Amino acid sequence: MTRVLVINSGSSSLKLQILDTAVETELAWALVERIGEPVGTLTVRRSDLPGSPGEERTAEAAFPDHTAALGRVLELAGELDAHPTDLGVEAIGHRVVHGGPAFHEPVEVTPEVEAGIEKLELLAPLHNPANLRGIRVARELLPGLPHVAVFDTGFFHTLPAAAHTYAIDRAVASEWDLRRYGFHGTSHEFVSRRTAEVLGRPYDELNQIVLHLGNGASASAISAGRAVDTSMGLTPLEGLVMGTRPGDLDPGLIIHLIRDRGMSPEDVSTLLNRKSGLEGLAGARDFRELLARVDDGDDDAVLAYDVVIHRLRRYIGGYWAILGEVGAITFTAGVGENVARLRADALSTLGSWGVELDPEANENGSGERVISTPDSRVTVLVVPTDEELAIARACDEVLGLGE
Ligand code: ADP
Repeated sequence: MTRVLVINSGSSSLKLQILDTAVETELAWALVERIGEPVGTLTVRRSDLPGSPGEERTAEAAFPDHTAALGRVLELAGELDAHPTDLGVEAIGHRVVHGGPAFHEPVEVTPEVEAGIEKLELLAPLHNPANLRGIRVARELLPGLPHVAVFDTGFFHTLPAAAHTYAIDRAVASEWDLRRYGFHGTSHEFVSRRTAEVLGRPYDELNQIVLHLGNGASASAISAGRAVDTSMGLTPLEGLVMGTRPGDLDPGLIIHLIRDRGMSPEDVSTLLNRKSGLEGLAGARDFRELLARVDDGDDDAVLAYDVVIHRLRRYIGGYWAILGEVGAITFTAGVGENVARLRADALSTLGSWGVELDPEANENGSGERVISTPDSRVTVLVVPTDEELAIARACDEVLGLGE
């Protein structure tokens, strides 16, 4: 039995989960939001387990920094007998967004690893500093336990050069490590492995397209167990249309805004990271809200939905052409798992390629399932992602805990 605390540290939030990797059960969970603001919120929950009902503590207070936030989480967890020590946690796993050219596999955190992650801050200024803060705070408040960093880019280090190379001056690209890295890798790997299990096929014999559609969204093409393309690039801005990010656009647009329209690089960063995608098109970053507005006939919302579907089709078709033969298409994450209409629309033009959805399974089922008909040439599935479990398992593996 191995128990792992998984930490996902954002710039103003902290998510924690304690998991038992042997039985794949969540034992405790915590979320702190609005760190650094005048009033933040905190919830700590000991999970419902057979023989012991769950219990929750909440707090509304100022959490000036991540140290204060984690300190309070640990205090309240202690009151619920859910402190990592109470629950026999053996390791701590940290989600790190960018592994850059240096980190492919999960690694135990050492001062050298911390320094390596710090060096990557230039490539991922919106994510890595916050991830590193989480690692440092956790190492300070939970000393004596091994900490492991798991990189979102890791699964995509196998991309062939043709897929990861930007067609720009090679000297410039190589000087600054400019290439496509891909993100959400932990989810794409977890979901694609699970897809092979569900289909009873060897992982390394199945060609797959995985669509991770949440606030952030990305697609991947996996050929016989190896990632051969993915939609995110140097940063998580490239690819599909997302909650607040545009995905693919002409880089000339950015030059135009800066050189000819007087926008600063900072303004453009805000435009592309926070004011684009569904938010920019329809003022609704949340997919549930967008769908409600589509149903009300709101023109902006309808256009946003159409742009999302158009982009998805472009990627699915492109990846099909790269893979040649496709055995499975899998939808995951908040939107992918919950929005039957989007799944149907994304695949609706592929009837002549042999893709046939089962409307009943697509619309009325829930959780992990096949949603194509038995006659469909390609099996289409919904497979809920579980990045925390994947990170916990990675800790197990790196540290040899479960042996
Ligand atoms: P992330 O982990 O990237 O923050 P999630 O995978 O949690 O995102 O997905 C969040 C998105 O999923 C939001 O746009 C949310 O509206 C959407 N979503 C979640 N549940 C549903 C649902 N039942 N119906 C429609 N959309 C949903």
